[in-house]
Amino acid sequence: MSLEKYREKRDFKKSPEPAGSAKTAVKAKQRLAYVIQKHRATNLHYDFRLEFRGVLLSWAVPKGPSLDPSVKRLAMQVEDHPLGYGGFEGVIPEGEYGGGTVMVWDNGEWIPESPDIEAALNKGDLKFTLRGEKLHGSWVLVRTRGYGGGNRSWLLIKHRDEFASQEDILTEKPRSVLSKNLLADIARINGGNVEKAATGDPPRQVRAKRDSVGAPKKKAHART
Ligand code: MN
Repeated sequence: MSLEKYREKRDFKKSPEPAGSAKTAVKAKQRLAYVIQKHRATNLHYDFRLEFRGVLLSWAVPKGPSLDPSVKRLAMQVEDHPLGYGGFEGVIPEGEYGGGTVMVWDNGEWIPESPDIEAALNKGDLKFTLRGEKLHGSWVLVRTRGYGGGNRSWLLIKHRDEFASQEDILTEKPRSVLSKNLLADIARINGGNVEKAATGDPPRQVRAKRDSVGAPKKKAHART
């Protein structure tokens, strides 16, 4: 695992994305970080990231995760990202690699089903549990062929468990877990392209309908 490709693609003088340090990479930690970043770049996609050996293994999921076990979502593996990237929310300047608005859509930890993560990755069958703010329960990433991506095409699939559902979580929960902002808000705050970012948010009418049927009520003391 190395961050060479990640750094090659980016100009950190122009983009606010973290360059990633060796120090972060060797930090010993019990829990493994999980994060999904919603990214309104050339095309809207969800970047699914799992910590492994000091970096974030990364897959771009064009349609985002689905809670429905009968739905398989294409996940194209991309270059490893630094651990610190998981906290990045903001705007990558247009013209730079991945130019557009980035939201931390979900985060938490992941637990591999089998202890030998490397063997599971090599086999192309990684089963795991997510403990996120939005995504929970058992999932699998399974390598696939036929999408012209060499060996970088995977499918992200929800396993059947109590967290499986028909709910369209992408529309129901479109906000950042860090700031509660929508993509358009993040673009506005960071001087990005608000109109472009807004095309990645659910339409206002859909949001209004959801809010009217009762948005989840949070207790003031729920977070410490
Ligand atoms: Mn991306």
